[in-house]
Amino acid sequence: MLKKLLYTLWLVLFCAIVFITSKSANITAFIDVIENRTFDLRQNVLIKNKAKHHNDKIVIVAIDDASYEYILDNYGEWPLPRDVYAKLVDFLQIQKPDIVAFDLMFVKSMKSAMEADNSLVEAFKKYDNLYTAMNFDNQPDDLRIPPSLPDRLSVNVDNKSKRVTFEAQTYHNCRVVLDGILNATPNIGIINVSRADDGILRKMPVFLKYQGKFYPQLGFKIGTDYLKKNENLSVDKFVIDKNDEVILGNRKIRLDSGGNVILNWYGGAGTYEYIPLYKLIKIAKGELANSYDFNNKIIYFGTTASSLFDIKTTPVSRVFPGVEVQATYLNNLIDNNFIHKAGKPVTIVMGVFMAILTGIIIMCVSSAFVASLASFSIYVVYVLAAYFAMRYFNCWLDIVYPLLLAITAFISAFIVKYLIKSRDFEHQYKLATTDGLTELYNHRYFQEQMAMQVENCKRYNTEFSMIILDIDFFKKFNDTFGHQAGDAVLWQVAQTLKKNVRATDIVCRYGGEEMSIILPNTGKNVAHSTAEKICQRVSANKIKLQGDREVSVTISLGVSTFPYDGKTPSEMIDAADKRLYNAKNSGRNKVGE
Ligand code: GH3
Ligand code: MG
Ligand code: MG
Repeated sequence: MLKKLLYTLWLVLFCAIVFITSKSANITAFIDVIENRTFDLRQNVLIKNKAKHHNDKIVIVAIDDASYEYILDNYGEWPLPRDVYAKLVDFLQIQKPDIVAFDLMFVKSMKSAMEADNSLVEAFKKYDNLYTAMNFDNQPDDLRIPPSLPDRLSVNVDNKSKRVTFEAQTYHNCRVVLDGILNATPNIGIINVSRADDGILRKMPVFLKYQGKFYPQLGFKIGTDYLKKNENLSVDKFVIDKNDEVILGNRKIRLDSGGNVILNWYGGAGTYEYIPLYKLIKIAKGELANSYDFNNKIIYFGTTASSLFDIKTTPVSRVFPGVEVQATYLNNLIDNNFIHKAGKPVTIVMGVFMAILTGIIIMCVSSAFVASLASFSIYVVYVLAAYFAMRYFNCWLDIVYPLLLAITAFISAFIVKYLIKSRDFEHQYKLATTDGLTELYNHRYFQEQMAMQVENCKRYNTEFSMIILDIDFFKKFNDTFGHQAGDAVLWQVAQTLKKNVRATDIVCRYGGEEMSIILPNTGKNVAHSTAEKICQRVSANKIKLQGDREVSVTISLGVSTFPYDGKTPSEMIDAADKRLYNAKNSGRNKVGE
């Protein structure tokens, strides 16, 4: 009964924990922080794995610290005059690259630079594989009036998902690029990124909302255009299905509730081939022999110089250039290996499954060591499974929440198990020491206690007494009223004894209708008066029998006191027995002398 109650209590408590932890926003946020760190750890282990290659079609033309110095030395200003980029584009196009993208914002420059700016605008008109970037922000309208953007920059999004909202990706202002470029090309993507609370960039937006329309992220824009050209992808409208996935032909890209994809990293900063911009300029000028192959490549221009501040913190590097984040995003898209995070129901099912398994093991395996080891092995297997799921299936299985549930189950199952065990022990102990009919201590316990009392009194030089008593003419009583009535009398007498002695006195059934009482720290006189009192109380006690008949019984008693009447338990019992015999022989219903 109690066992069932404990199991139920445990189950209810456990369900409550599952419910509370999965519903409370604070707890979920706290768990997410740790979960994110386990993601970082997995990614860091995985980038050391040679099987995880980035796509070497993608190269980065890096405006590194050396190039920044070269630009200042040779052009005397930053940013670099735009006609230099235009010339580089012309030079690169000869080698037929797939895509040339700028992770740079060509914002309005000084009036004097208009001519140089125009030559870049011309390049954007001339080549349809040229991309550039722009970003949204929430600057106040009185700083800059939110510009309206050409329609061809936006995309159609049909969002069928109930979970994915674009609240965090909705902006009300925009830092616009040169009007000429804005009007020359549809190839402009947005370079806003998504950072977690801890400042680490794990996710990237796909579509960003501005003035009620959706605009694609730069990496997404380039990636989808690449797939359209190279893999015959045809989409005129981006559908986000009920499972929060963007459908791109046979690719499905899972979004989180904020409309982000989770990046899969290939290595720390410097994973992609970096070609310093100054070298490219020199090659284009004919000052340096060309050792690079740009044919069919996707070329990303971007800053890596620490002085230019486009640095992000990622799971794999504290210092990761923004352009390489864009490259990773694009790479994930064309190689179809974004990270898919398992949904919350999967996480809860995993956790509950491990918790139940842990509970069963702990309840069924008697050795605590073996049970702990087995439970621990389950957790290790799960963590390994989560690692391999990410390695082979790009799947992010939550670790922290399931382990939290499993460990809670582990601790609580042990508590329940030991509660049940201790209760069983108590029950067994009671069975072994008490008499079923009278609920008094049994003969064995009496003997044990006698031995202990003798030892104690010897050691501390104190005294104790014992009373032995026998119901008078009980055989007759049984014969007259029946055995069951006899049993009831035995029980009644036992209760009377218990009621009339001290809490520290030990009342036992000596055998048959004989009972005994051990009175620790009690001298002859007190023991005697106690015996007298009991004798009176028993005889005064009316016992109700069936048919409303009232009867009463009497008892005869014998008392002995340590050390005067005996120095061992059996001497003590003999002495008390003798006095009981005397009581019987001198009329019964009395304490024998
Ligand atoms: P006396 O006054 O000399 O003690 O007479 P008595 O009839 O009590 O004699 P004795 O002690 O020899 O008898 C013990 C009787 O107690 C025998 C048995 O019928 C009865 N008895 C012993 N144990 C139980 C029991 O558990 N239940 C019942 N109903 N009777 C018991
Ligand atoms: Mg007897
Ligand atoms: Mg008797």
